[in-house]
Amino acid sequence: MSQNQAAPTSKPDAVDPSLRWIDIHLHLNMLKTDADAALASAASQGVTRVITIGTEPKDHPLVLDWAARRFPQVACTLGVHPHEATLWSKEVRQFIFDHRQAKGLVAVGEIGLDYYYNNSPQDVQIAAFREQMQLAEELDLPVQIHTRDADADTAKILREYSGRVRGLLHCFTSSAELAREALDCGFDLSFSGVVTFKNAQALREVVREVPLDRLHVETDAPFLAPVPKRGQSNVPEFVLHTAQAVAELKSVTLAELSRQTLANASRLFTRLGS
Ligand SMILES: [Zn+2]
Ligand SMILES: [Zn+2]
Repeated sequence: MSQNQAAPTSKPDAVDPSLRWIDIHLHLNMLKTDADAALASAASQGVTRVITIGTEPKDHPLVLDWAARRFPQVACTLGVHPHEATLWSKEVRQFIFDHRQAKGLVAVGEIGLDYYYNNSPQDVQIAAFREQMQLAEELDLPVQIHTRDADADTAKILREYSGRVRGLLHCFTSSAELAREALDCGFDLSFSGVVTFKNAQALREVVREVPLDRLHVETDAPFLAPVPKRGQSNVPEFVLHTAQAVAELKSVTLAELSRQTLANASRLFTRLGS
């Protein structure tokens, strides 16, 4: 792609609210606005399902409660984020195991490696990642993986669990090589508002390469609001801007992308229901 090729334009006015979307990764408990209001506003824009992520043990009871009781449109994951890998323990493993049948629990996550921040030591991150992949295999649940500046070790662990664990790499911003490796190992890729950022040309090339039946869209709210909302606190309805950019990159209509991403989410997160 040439240097001066513009980022895909995001046209909120062109969005058709009759289309349905799922935001497969956000942090409802971290939103700057009230969760009820954010979900109601999202639903009015067609974002009728969301998956809220459990990132550390203290949040697990809350995300379970939201998914099981408080919000019918919310599903959840349970896991320990690489930033918090030092909090992974036998007790946390047991908690997730004990809640494996909880209503609304659809995946283990987010788990993985983050060598950009290194908030936990790398060997601790690797051990927590492997043990949670094993737990996902044992529970027959998909995983949501976070990876940043850790391509080689992520690829190694994806290969180890290829064919044993299914899942996706969320907020994918890594190299085309890691994208190919993940796809080869059977993992899907999920894209956030980063695809709309001006300097994300290489990532947009990755989006072009990923088969339509292997991609997802997410906000990772409250982080990473897409253009034209960049700099604001992200909310689930902004997934429409990312969808718009991805549809343009894949040369499909929004209706096609809506249908395909819903199908992809139902295929991967088998406990999502309709
Ligand atoms: Zn993440
Ligand atoms: Zn996240």
